[in-house]
Amino acid sequence: MPRYEYRCRQCDTQFELTRPMAESGAPASCPDGHEDTVKLLSTVAVGGGSSSAPAAAAAPAGGGGGGCCGGGCCG
Ligand SMILES: [Zn+2]
Repeated sequence: MPRYEYRCRQCDTQFELTRPMAESGAPASCPDGHEDTVKLLSTVAVGGGSSSAPAAAAAPAGGGGGGCCGGGCCG
């Protein structure tokens, strides 16, 4: 059964109601009994908590510095 979030505009209380989808538009009274409530975006519980951690990109190894051809070691 879907869960809907509501917020009372009188006491600013946010509450949830689990009700059939057919009654999602029905007025809901807050726990304190106020009827001036607004329906918030329904939070749908989604299964699966695979957090994709960014793979550490291998830093390209810089070219070896110091050409030896300047020092006469290359031949
Ligand atoms: Zn209220």
